[in-house]
Amino acid sequence: MRATLLHQAGDVRVENVADPKIQQPTDAVVRIVLGCICGSDLWPYKSLPLTDHPRQMGHEFIGVVEETGPQVTTVKAGDVVVAPFTYSDGTCAYCREGLHTSCEHGGPWGVNGVDGGQGQAARVPYADGTLVALPVGEDSDLLPDLLTLSDVLCTGYHAARTAGVRAGESVTVVGDGAVGLSAVIAAKLLGAERIILMGRHRARTDLGREFGATDVVAARGAEGVAAVRELTGGQGTGRVLECVGLKDALVQATGVVRDGGTISRVGAPQYPEVPLGFPEFLRNITLTGGVAPARAYIRELMPHILDGTIRPGRVFDRTVALDEVAEGYRLMNDREALKVIVRP
Ligand SMILES: [Zn+2]
Ligand SMILES: [Zn+2]
Repeated sequence: MRATLLHQAGDVRVENVADPKIQQPTDAVVRIVLGCICGSDLWPYKSLPLTDHPRQMGHEFIGVVEETGPQVTTVKAGDVVVAPFTYSDGTCAYCREGLHTSCEHGGPWGVNGVDGGQGQAARVPYADGTLVALPVGEDSDLLPDLLTLSDVLCTGYHAARTAGVRAGESVTVVGDGAVGLSAVIAAKLLGAERIILMGRHRARTDLGREFGATDVVAARGAEGVAAVRELTGGQGTGRVLECVGLKDALVQATGVVRDGGTISRVGAPQYPEVPLGFPEFLRNITLTGGVAPARAYIRELMPHILDGTIRPGRVFDRTVALDEVAEGYRLMNDREALKVIVRP
Protein backbone atom coordinates (compact mmCIF):
# COMPACT_ATOMS: atom_id res chain seq x y z
CA MET A 1 0.00 0.00 0.00
CA ARG A 2 0.93 3.66 -0.27
CA ALA A 3 1.63 5.65 2.88
CA THR A 4 3.14 8.97 3.95
CA LEU A 5 6.70 8.81 5.28
CA LEU A 6 8.76 11.62 6.83
CA HIS A 7 12.46 11.12 6.06
CA GLN A 8 13.69 14.36 7.58
CA ALA A 9 12.50 17.89 8.17
CA GLY A 10 10.65 19.13 5.09
CA ASP A 11 10.97 15.77 3.27
CA VAL A 12 7.58 14.06 3.14
CA ARG A 13 7.11 11.29 0.59
CA VAL A 14 4.42 8.84 -0.38
CA GLU A 15 5.97 5.40 -0.72
CA ASN A 16 5.12 1.71 -0.77
CA VAL A 17 5.02 0.01 2.62
CA ALA A 18 3.88 -3.47 3.65
CA ASP A 19 0.14 -4.07 3.43
CA PRO A 20 -1.39 -4.20 6.91
CA LYS A 21 -2.38 -7.68 8.09
CA ILE A 22 -4.08 -9.01 11.19
CA GLN A 23 -1.26 -9.86 13.63
CA GLN A 24 -3.15 -10.18 16.90
CA PRO A 25 -6.64 -11.56 17.51
CA THR A 26 -7.67 -8.08 18.73
CA ASP A 27 -6.55 -6.29 15.53
CA ALA A 28 -8.61 -4.90 12.68
CA VAL A 29 -7.48 -3.83 9.24
CA VAL A 30 -9.08 -0.59 8.09
CA ARG A 31 -9.10 0.87 4.58
CA ILE A 32 -8.66 4.59 5.11
CA VAL A 33 -11.28 6.83 3.48
CA LEU A 34 -10.25 10.17 4.97
CA GLY A 35 -7.14 11.27 6.82
CA CYS A 36 -5.74 14.69 7.62
CA ILE A 37 -2.68 16.63 8.67
CA CYS A 38 -2.42 17.81 12.28
CA GLY A 39 -0.70 20.86 13.66
CA SER A 40 1.36 18.44 15.75
CA ASP A 41 2.60 16.74 12.53
CA LEU A 42 4.33 20.03 11.78
CA TRP A 43 6.73 19.71 14.74
CA PRO A 44 8.61 16.72 13.25
CA TYR A 45 8.08 18.23 9.78
CA LYS A 46 10.05 21.25 10.98
CA SER A 47 12.70 19.44 12.99
CA LEU A 48 13.21 15.70 12.29
CA PRO A 49 16.88 14.90 11.56
CA LEU A 50 17.65 12.64 8.57
CA THR A 51 16.77 9.06 9.52
CA ASP A 52 17.12 5.56 8.05
CA HIS A 53 13.80 4.72 9.64
CA PRO A 54 11.36 7.24 8.20
CA ARG A 55 8.33 7.85 10.33
CA GLN A 56 4.92 6.79 9.01
CA MET A 57 2.79 9.89 9.44
CA GLY A 58 -0.78 10.65 10.42
CA HIS A 59 -2.91 9.87 13.46
CA GLU A 60 -6.42 11.03 12.54
CA PHE A 61 -8.52 8.91 10.19
CA ILE A 62 -11.87 7.52 9.19
CA GLY A 63 -12.04 4.25 7.31
CA VAL A 64 -13.95 1.11 6.48
CA VAL A 65 -13.18 -2.09 8.37
CA GLU A 66 -11.91 -4.74 5.95
CA GLU A 67 -11.06 -7.56 8.32
CA THR A 68 -11.11 -8.25 12.05
CA GLY A 69 -9.26 -10.66 14.31
CA PRO A 70 -11.25 -13.42 16.04
CA GLN A 71 -11.54 -11.55 19.37
CA VAL A 72 -12.96 -8.33 17.91
CA THR A 73 -16.66 -7.96 18.75
CA THR A 74 -17.71 -4.29 18.45
CA VAL A 75 -16.84 -3.60 14.81
CA LYS A 76 -17.09 -5.80 11.73
CA ALA A 77 -16.11 -5.79 8.06
CA GLY A 78 -17.93 -3.01 6.22
CA ASP A 79 -18.37 -0.70 9.24
CA VAL A 80 -17.36 2.92 8.81
CA VAL A 81 -15.19 3.79 11.82
CA VAL A 82 -13.26 6.67 13.34
CA ALA A 83 -9.94 6.21 15.11
CA PRO A 84 -8.81 8.50 17.94
CA PHE A 85 -5.24 9.81 17.77
CA THR A 86 -3.91 7.06 20.04
CA TYR A 87 -4.95 3.40 20.18
CA SER A 88 -6.00 1.86 23.49
CA ASP A 89 -7.18 -1.51 24.81
CA GLY A 90 -10.39 -0.20 26.35
CA THR A 91 -10.08 -2.55 29.31
CA CYS A 92 -7.29 -1.40 31.64
CA ALA A 93 -7.94 0.74 34.71
CA TYR A 94 -7.01 3.96 32.89
CA CYS A 95 -9.30 3.21 29.94
CA ARG A 96 -12.17 2.36 32.29
CA GLU A 97 -11.84 5.74 33.95
CA GLY A 98 -11.69 7.55 30.62
CA LEU A 99 -7.96 8.27 30.46
CA HIS A 100 -7.28 6.25 27.31
CA THR A 101 -4.10 8.20 26.55
CA SER A 102 -2.50 6.53 29.60
CA CYS A 103 -3.62 3.02 28.50
CA GLU A 104 -1.26 0.30 29.69
CA HIS A 105 -1.24 -1.26 26.21
CA GLY A 106 -1.94 1.80 24.10
CA GLY A 107 0.31 3.95 21.99
CA PRO A 108 0.68 6.34 19.10
CA TRP A 109 0.16 5.67 15.41
CA GLY A 110 3.04 5.43 12.96
CA VAL A 111 5.74 3.93 15.19
CA ASN A 112 6.66 0.51 16.62
CA GLY A 113 5.17 -1.41 13.69
CA VAL A 114 1.83 0.40 13.82
CA ASP A 115 0.68 2.17 10.66
CA GLY A 116 0.02 5.89 10.38
CA GLY A 117 -3.22 7.55 9.36
CA GLN A 118 -1.99 9.22 6.16
CA GLY A 119 -2.00 6.16 3.96
CA GLN A 120 -4.32 3.75 2.20
CA ALA A 121 -4.89 1.42 5.14
CA ALA A 122 -3.90 0.69 8.73
CA ARG A 123 -3.67 -2.20 11.12
CA VAL A 124 -5.56 -1.08 14.21
CA PRO A 125 -4.40 -2.63 17.49
CA TYR A 126 -7.13 -3.34 20.08
CA ALA A 127 -9.89 -2.56 17.60
CA ASP A 128 -12.65 -2.82 20.23
CA GLY A 129 -10.92 -0.36 22.55
CA THR A 130 -9.82 1.99 19.79
CA LEU A 131 -12.36 2.27 16.98
CA VAL A 132 -15.86 3.71 17.18
CA ALA A 133 -18.39 2.72 14.51
CA LEU A 134 -20.10 5.64 12.76
CA PRO A 135 -23.76 5.35 11.72
CA VAL A 136 -23.07 6.81 8.25
CA GLY A 137 -21.91 5.56 4.86
CA GLU A 138 -18.44 6.17 3.51
CA ASP A 139 -19.88 8.74 1.09
CA SER A 140 -21.56 10.80 3.86
CA ASP A 141 -21.21 14.60 3.72
CA LEU A 142 -20.61 14.48 7.47
CA LEU A 143 -17.27 12.64 7.20
CA PRO A 144 -15.10 15.78 7.55
CA ASP A 145 -17.08 16.75 10.68
CA LEU A 146 -16.78 13.23 12.08
CA LEU A 147 -13.05 13.19 11.30
CA THR A 148 -12.56 15.95 13.89
CA LEU A 149 -13.52 13.34 16.52
CA SER A 150 -10.08 11.84 15.92
CA ASP A 151 -8.38 14.76 17.56
CA VAL A 152 -9.18 18.47 17.32
CA LEU A 153 -12.81 18.48 18.46
CA CYS A 154 -12.05 16.13 21.35
CA THR A 155 -8.95 18.14 22.24
CA GLY A 156 -10.91 21.39 22.31
CA TYR A 157 -13.58 19.66 24.37
CA HIS A 158 -10.96 18.32 26.78
CA ALA A 159 -9.81 21.91 27.35
CA ALA A 160 -13.35 23.05 28.13
CA ARG A 161 -14.15 20.05 30.34
CA THR A 162 -10.95 20.10 32.37
CA ALA A 163 -11.27 23.87 32.80
CA GLY A 164 -14.70 23.19 34.27
CA VAL A 165 -16.68 25.40 31.86
CA ARG A 166 -20.30 25.69 33.04
CA ALA A 167 -23.42 27.29 31.67
CA GLY A 168 -23.47 31.08 31.83
CA GLU A 169 -19.72 31.51 32.33
CA SER A 170 -17.16 33.62 30.51
CA VAL A 171 -14.33 31.82 28.73
CA THR A 172 -11.23 32.99 26.91
CA VAL A 173 -9.79 30.77 24.17
CA VAL A 174 -6.14 31.46 23.35
CA GLY A 175 -5.31 30.46 19.77
CA ASP A 176 -7.23 30.42 16.49
CA GLY A 177 -5.90 27.14 15.07
CA ALA A 178 -8.12 24.11 14.55
CA VAL A 179 -7.95 23.21 18.26
CA GLY A 180 -8.73 26.75 19.40
CA LEU A 181 -11.73 26.93 17.09
CA SER A 182 -12.83 23.51 18.36
CA ALA A 183 -12.50 24.82 21.92
CA VAL A 184 -14.91 27.61 20.99
CA ILE A 185 -17.40 24.98 19.82
CA ALA A 186 -16.87 23.02 23.04
CA ALA A 187 -17.28 26.05 25.32
CA LYS A 188 -20.54 26.88 23.56
CA LEU A 189 -21.76 23.27 23.85
CA LEU A 190 -21.15 23.49 27.61
CA GLY A 191 -23.22 26.66 27.79
CA ALA A 192 -20.61 29.40 28.06
CA GLU A 193 -22.32 32.76 27.65
CA ARG A 194 -19.33 34.82 26.66
CA ILE A 195 -16.48 33.37 24.60
CA ILE A 196 -13.51 35.63 23.90
CA LEU A 197 -11.29 34.28 21.13
CA MET A 198 -7.69 35.50 21.04
CA GLY A 199 -6.26 35.18 17.55
CA ARG A 200 -5.03 37.40 14.77
CA HIS A 201 -5.87 35.49 11.59
CA ARG A 202 -9.03 37.17 10.37
CA ALA A 203 -10.42 34.26 8.34
CA ARG A 204 -9.95 31.95 11.34
CA THR A 205 -11.42 34.30 13.92
CA ASP A 206 -14.38 34.92 11.59
CA LEU A 207 -15.00 31.17 11.62
CA GLY A 208 -14.60 31.30 15.39
CA ARG A 209 -17.42 33.85 15.56
CA GLU A 210 -19.62 31.52 13.52
CA PHE A 211 -18.73 28.72 15.95
CA GLY A 212 -19.86 30.85 18.91
CA ALA A 213 -17.15 33.35 19.87
CA THR A 214 -18.81 36.53 21.12
CA ASP A 215 -15.65 38.68 21.06
CA VAL A 216 -12.35 38.52 19.21
CA VAL A 217 -9.11 40.02 20.50
CA ALA A 218 -6.41 40.19 17.85
CA ALA A 219 -3.78 41.85 20.04
CA ARG A 220 -1.24 39.64 21.80
CA GLY A 221 0.98 39.96 24.86
CA ALA A 222 0.31 42.75 27.38
CA GLU A 223 -1.89 44.57 24.89
CA GLY A 224 -4.05 41.47 24.35
CA VAL A 225 -4.30 40.90 28.11
CA ALA A 226 -5.40 44.51 28.61
CA ALA A 227 -8.05 44.15 25.90
CA VAL A 228 -9.55 41.04 27.51
CA ARG A 229 -9.53 42.68 30.94
CA GLU A 230 -11.27 45.72 29.51
CA LEU A 231 -13.98 43.46 28.08
CA THR A 232 -14.47 41.77 31.45
CA GLY A 233 -14.68 44.63 33.93
CA GLY A 234 -10.96 44.43 34.64
CA GLN A 235 -11.00 40.89 36.06
CA GLY A 236 -10.48 38.51 33.15
CA THR A 237 -12.42 35.28 32.67
CA GLY A 238 -12.75 32.40 35.11
CA ARG A 239 -11.91 29.79 32.44
CA VAL A 240 -9.08 30.07 29.95
CA LEU A 241 -8.44 27.44 27.26
CA GLU A 242 -4.84 27.60 26.03
CA CYS A 243 -4.75 25.92 22.61
CA VAL A 244 -1.34 26.90 21.27
CA GLY A 245 1.43 25.21 23.26
CA LEU A 246 3.93 28.07 23.24
CA LYS A 247 5.14 29.73 26.43
CA ASP A 248 3.90 33.15 25.30
CA ALA A 249 0.40 31.71 24.99
CA LEU A 250 0.50 30.35 28.53
CA VAL A 251 1.82 33.67 29.86
CA GLN A 252 -1.05 35.35 28.03
CA ALA A 253 -3.45 32.85 29.61
CA THR A 254 -2.21 33.72 33.09
CA GLY A 255 -2.77 37.37 32.22
CA VAL A 256 -6.40 36.96 31.20
CA VAL A 257 -7.52 34.44 33.84
CA ARG A 258 -9.59 35.80 36.69
CA ASP A 259 -8.25 35.32 40.24
CA GLY A 260 -9.42 31.92 41.47
CA GLY A 261 -9.86 30.78 37.87
CA THR A 262 -8.63 27.81 35.85
CA ILE A 263 -6.36 27.59 32.83
CA SER A 264 -6.51 24.40 30.79
CA ARG A 265 -3.69 23.85 28.33
CA VAL A 266 -4.16 21.42 25.49
CA GLY A 267 -1.60 22.77 23.04
CA ALA A 268 1.36 20.35 23.14
CA PRO A 269 3.83 22.38 25.24
CA GLN A 270 6.95 23.50 23.38
CA TYR A 271 8.51 24.78 26.63
CA PRO A 272 10.21 22.89 29.47
CA GLU A 273 8.88 24.85 32.44
CA VAL A 274 5.55 26.34 33.40
CA PRO A 275 5.71 30.08 34.11
CA LEU A 276 3.63 30.00 37.28
CA GLY A 277 5.37 31.59 40.24
CA PHE A 278 4.57 33.50 43.40
CA PRO A 279 2.31 36.13 41.77
CA GLU A 280 0.08 33.41 40.29
CA PHE A 281 0.15 31.55 43.63
CA LEU A 282 -1.22 34.67 45.29
CA ARG A 283 -4.04 34.71 42.70
CA ASN A 284 -5.14 31.10 43.37
CA ILE A 285 -4.85 30.07 39.74
CA THR A 286 -5.35 26.41 38.80
CA LEU A 287 -3.50 24.92 35.84
CA THR A 288 -5.00 21.79 34.32
CA GLY A 289 -5.36 20.08 30.94
CA GLY A 290 -2.99 17.80 29.09
CA VAL A 291 -3.21 15.38 26.21
CA ALA A 292 -6.86 14.69 25.38
CA PRO A 293 -8.19 11.16 25.84
CA ALA A 294 -10.12 11.54 22.58
CA ARG A 295 -11.61 8.04 22.75
CA ALA A 296 -13.45 9.00 25.94
CA TYR A 297 -15.32 11.84 24.23
CA ILE A 298 -16.20 10.41 20.80
CA ARG A 299 -19.55 8.86 21.72
CA GLU A 300 -20.55 11.96 23.69
CA LEU A 301 -19.75 14.42 20.90
CA MET A 302 -20.84 12.40 17.85
CA PRO A 303 -24.62 13.04 18.30
CA HIS A 304 -24.07 16.82 18.09
CA ILE A 305 -22.49 16.29 14.67
CA LEU A 306 -25.11 13.82 13.47
CA ASP A 307 -27.98 16.18 14.36
CA GLY A 308 -26.24 19.18 12.78
CA THR A 309 -25.82 21.20 16.01
CA ILE A 310 -22.11 21.65 15.31
CA ARG A 311 -20.09 21.62 12.07
CA PRO A 312 -16.50 21.25 13.30
CA GLY A 313 -15.38 19.97 9.88
CA ARG A 314 -15.41 23.57 8.71
CA VAL A 315 -11.87 23.81 10.09
CA PHE A 316 -10.77 21.87 6.99
CA ASP A 317 -10.11 24.41 4.27
CA ARG A 318 -8.11 22.30 1.80
CA THR A 319 -8.17 18.73 0.51
CA VAL A 320 -5.25 16.96 -1.16
CA ALA A 321 -4.93 13.51 -2.69
CA LEU A 322 -2.54 11.15 -0.94
CA ASP A 323 0.07 11.66 -3.69
CA GLU A 324 -0.09 15.43 -3.01
CA VAL A 325 0.42 15.11 0.74
CA ALA A 326 3.77 16.98 0.62
CA GLU A 327 1.90 19.99 -0.75
CA GLY A 328 -0.59 19.65 2.12
CA TYR A 329 2.26 19.86 4.65
CA ARG A 330 3.67 22.89 2.87
CA LEU A 331 0.28 24.63 2.89
CA MET A 332 -0.13 24.13 6.63
CA ASN A 333 3.47 24.93 7.47
CA ASP A 334 3.27 28.18 5.48
CA ARG A 335 -0.09 28.93 7.12
CA GLU A 336 -1.83 28.98 3.76
CA ALA A 337 -4.22 26.31 5.06
CA LEU A 338 -5.80 25.91 8.48
CA LYS A 339 -6.19 22.12 8.31
CA VAL A 340 -5.80 19.80 5.34
CA ILE A 341 -7.75 16.65 4.49
CA VAL A 342 -5.80 13.82 2.85
CA ARG A 343 -7.90 11.63 0.60
CA PRO A 344 -6.24 8.29 -0.22
ZN1 LIG B 1 -3.71 15.48 15.64
ZN1 LIG C 1 -6.25 0.71 28.42
